[in-house]
Amino acid sequence: MVTIPYQKLIDFVAAIFQRAGSSPAEARRIGSYLVTANLTGHDSHGVIRVPVYMRWKTSGDVVPDRTVKLLVDTPSLAVIDGCFGYGQTVGPQAVAIGIEKCKSAGLAAITLRNSGHIGRIGDWAEMAAAEGLVSIHFVNAAGSILVAPFGGVDRRLSTAPYCVGIPRQGQPPIVLDFATSLVAEGKVLVASRGGKKLPAGALIAPDGTLSEDPALLYGPFEAEGPRDHSKGRGAISAFGEHKGSGLALVCELLGGALSGNGATSAPRRFSNGMFAIYLDPERVDIDNFFDGEITRYVDYFKASRPAAGVESVLIPGEPEARTRAERMANGVPLPDDTWAAIAAAARDVGIAEAEIVRVTA
Ligand code: NAD
Repeated sequence: MVTIPYQKLIDFVAAIFQRAGSSPAEARRIGSYLVTANLTGHDSHGVIRVPVYMRWKTSGDVVPDRTVKLLVDTPSLAVIDGCFGYGQTVGPQAVAIGIEKCKSAGLAAITLRNSGHIGRIGDWAEMAAAEGLVSIHFVNAAGSILVAPFGGVDRRLSTAPYCVGIPRQGQPPIVLDFATSLVAEGKVLVASRGGKKLPAGALIAPDGTLSEDPALLYGPFEAEGPRDHSKGRGAISAFGEHKGSGLALVCELLGGALSGNGATSAPRRFSNGMFAIYLDPERVDIDNFFDGEITRYVDYFKASRPAAGVESVLIPGEPEARTRAERMANGVPLPDDTWAAIAAAARDVGIAEAEIVRVTA
């Protein structure tokens, strides 16, 4: 395990992407968003993704420094094409359009198609909440067919995340942000690399047996070798039985089909699709009731007596805020093989050994 101060990690990841053809601004943005995923405890969506982003860049599946195209543009609606730019570039551009429209119309919706990986969807809810807006996101990940629907064993869904952000005055927003699979694929990746083990029943074998063995998703793999989810014969289970499986279907239909991104089917060029709704609560909350009622209700919710083995009842966004504070102070822990894979990606783009060694010194 190595532990790296987060600013140093952002600088290093930014250096890799700059060498790989991104402008300094884009390279820093990718570094900041990936490291934020690690800071919030979502290592599955953090710097572990550097090698795969590099592969996508080399194959032309993702293109540096793209500007989104507006295909439909009305006062409250935008249909946006991400043109296969990095999600960390076209994602914030799309969200900024939604925010601007919502601020003038009170309610707005956007769709985004053909986006590179937009990472942790909570980033986009936090961006809207920082402007005082409620946001709801339905996302799919076309090209990444990984999840079996409830009652099935064959893969039919992506990990299709769903996310809601609710701003609060003078407090961090409430951010509910999860994959509709029992675990995000990145968590299978982390487990396959010796990180946190998968929860019971996270994966399902072709015969319907539940399992926690990452080889079901990747096929047999070497400890240091690549992971290819097209090689495994099993699938990730949808979370929450028929309810989670139904929500995943809705994410595919709204994030994938409605956006023009395409719902997940056969393996293809990766792209995230998103349908997002933004609402300005001040336009609805004519009695100035909302924020005080959130405070009252959250206190009531959290005052539920904790179950055995649980320290306290938390609200969505709280675990991330705690981990962020701890890791900003003490650094970002990375398993040795994750670090080795990032260092190899750095060497591939010509970063000197001395510079790589300095990061963990
Ligand atoms: P997860 O299972 O860790 O759930 C996270 C959510 O649950 C958060 O809202 C968190 O605040 C809340 N939470 C966690 N523990 C809690 C507790 N004890 N009490 C109350 N609330 C709690 O998340 P996940 O499903 O592994 O997803 C991880 C990340 O992966 C998300 O950020 C998601 O957006 C991202 N993702 C992205 C894609 C993509 O294609 N871009 C695909 C899938 C997932």
